Amino acid sequence: MPERLHEGEKIFRGIPVSAGVCRGKILVLDKPRQPAPQRILSDAEVEGEVARLENALLQTRQQVREVQRKVVESVGDEQGSIFDAHLLVLEDPVLVEEAKKLIRANKVNAEHAFSSVAEHYAAALAKVDDDYLRERAADIRDVTARVLNQLLGHEDEVDLRHLTEPCLIIAHDLTPSKTAQLDRKKVLGFGTDVGSKTSHTAILARSLRLPAIVGLKDASEQLNTGDFALLDGFNGVIVVNPTDQTLFEYGQLARRQVTLEEKLRDVITKPAVTLDNHRVFLSANVEQAADAEVVKASGAEGIGLFRTEYLFINREAPPTEEEQFEAYRHAAVTLKPSPVVIRTVDLGGDKLLSSLTVPLEMNPFLGWRAIRFCLHQTDIFRAQLRAILRASAEGTVKLMYPMICGLDELTQANALLAKCKDELRAEKIPFDDRMEIGAMIETPSAAVIADSLAKRVQFFSIGTNDLIQYTLAVDRMNEKIAHLYEPTHPAIVRLIKATVDAAHARNVWVSVCGEMAGDPAFVPLLIGLGVDELSAAPPLVAPMKYLIRRLKLSEARELATFAMNCESPPEIAARCQEFAQAAAPALFER
Ligand code: PEP
Ligand code: MG
Repeated sequence: MPERLHEGEKIFRGIPVSAGVCRGKILVLDKPRQPAPQRILSDAEVEGEVARLENALLQTRQQVREVQRKVVESVGDEQGSIFDAHLLVLEDPVLVEEAKKLIRANKVNAEHAFSSVAEHYAAALAKVDDDYLRERAADIRDVTARVLNQLLGHEDEVDLRHLTEPCLIIAHDLTPSKTAQLDRKKVLGFGTDVGSKTSHTAILARSLRLPAIVGLKDASEQLNTGDFALLDGFNGVIVVNPTDQTLFEYGQLARRQVTLEEKLRDVITKPAVTLDNHRVFLSANVEQAADAEVVKASGAEGIGLFRTEYLFINREAPPTEEEQFEAYRHAAVTLKPSPVVIRTVDLGGDKLLSSLTVPLEMNPFLGWRAIRFCLHQTDIFRAQLRAILRASAEGTVKLMYPMICGLDELTQANALLAKCKDELRAEKIPFDDRMEIGAMIETPSAAVIADSLAKRVQFFSIGTNDLIQYTLAVDRMNEKIAHLYEPTHPAIVRLIKATVDAAHARNVWVSVCGEMAGDPAFVPLLIGLGVDELSAAPPLVAPMKYLIRRLKLSEARELATFAMNCESPPEIAARCQEFAQAAAPALFER
């Protein structure tokens, strides 16, 4: 990485989450708003301020109607009707009259008056134990932001699907659903103030091959739309106003990348086999069925994790069985005879279903998530199970349950699966009765009872993203504690080893599908610990294969033995890095 800061440049540092370098104009999304400023008016200004508020409400109404019209045109009436609630807020006589009263009585500016009154109502509604009313609180806040934008002359929220020119997106935060909307032709890369390496936003960036940085602290406040910058997703650096010297240095990095990519292209069609002839199964993680083609081209031997949540978010109603069947069938047929592991929907945490009023939770990652959600929303779950079963007739489909904590969840899920099989049999709809069932090992409890789970499933997939978060009690989304999120913590190393041993004692296959699997520094450790399969975003598969073909299993096992006996996470991490770098230095030249 070019180290020196050149004159006129400004640097922002964060956590690199998706490799690559890009440069272009910055587009800052939704800067975190300061509370509306208060200004005391002179008597002469008061009526003018009331008129200013009325005008802003009128403009906002027109703006919402325009957005509604576009949504109805492009998506449909039902989706457009969600804006009716926003229009009702803008026309609410109590709210509007109270804001005007406040301007007149306290002689305060329109921004302050409207936001105070609106927030008063929103806060009261947000506390009520009723999903419908709580949603109205969100509507009020949404509309208030629009009215304030009008009054303060801020730009409206950018439509991420229709950007007009290529840009680097900078935002305080990007939800997975917003990230999924990014127009890949127009977005060169992105950076966010918050987030961490295993947040789903970061995971999506890797799948989309978009250079990305998270944890940039207050970059979204400091950077401005139109600034010219270079974003280095290898090292987590944004350089604003890069000099010719910096651009030249990055040009050299780009050339090294081209050389590396040539080397990587060579291994794509070759097997992932170590120098001492140990075969590792490499597969890919996908977020949508259309990525099946990309998987084939990546050198992966199948899909190790199909995150089906993305079929469910950014829409009003859950997908039908038929729609899901088409998606799963497409993946199964495209990859046939290679396996496709379809994970039942892992909603909750940072991935929310817009159509369902999910109560706000204090700890969403410890809440109504994944299998817990599915065992409660059985209609949604059964439609998915039927769709997966039907797709199993068309290729090598395997089904996997997320966030299993105990045997009971597995038993209940399998009972529903058995019912779905009975229904399909009765309806004479074909499916593979021997479809393999697997459990994700992503909670410490699952890892500890891996021996019991191994009696009941055909495979495990270790979800290290969650396993690390739950074992170390470190929120995977929180950049402030990112330094505590340690894949090489002895507790993690030992839980992985215990899971592998419990599984192998019963001939159960073990994959790792968390981000740890795609990080070259950890590949030798995982192989040394005895993992059978590694699954990562398609662009990471070739580097993983390149590395595996340059290492020896015997030495990876020594590394794992060292890790099992070492008490220091940084020491284990350093040894892993050294090992991988010695085997494949080209992967680490940045
Ligand atoms: C994991 O937790 O490691 C995993 C693969 O699942 P997700 O990242 O979707 O939670
Ligand atoms: Mg997980």
